[in-house]
Amino acid sequence: MSCKKCASANERSFKSEMSLAFRELENVDRAPLYVSQDISVCLDCGHVELTLPPAKLELLKREASRPHTQRRSAP
Ligand SMILES: [Zn+2]
Repeated sequence: MSCKKCASANERSFKSEMSLAFRELENVDRAPLYVSQDISVCLDCGHVELTLPPAKLELLKREASRPHTQRRSAP
């Protein structure tokens, strides 16, 4: 498999931990969504690729569709 950005074959898979947070200032007090997932990193250009697990994707979609005042405040 090659990098989708630069077509290099110099990609490696890593375990990652990240948090996804809404960018808007009114959401600064919202708990971020924690994700632990394997990622693919291009060691030539730095392009990173991952697919969110279905359960995390559903949670993110639900949070994104809720008005600000109804979003959860804890994970
Ligand atoms: Zn690349």
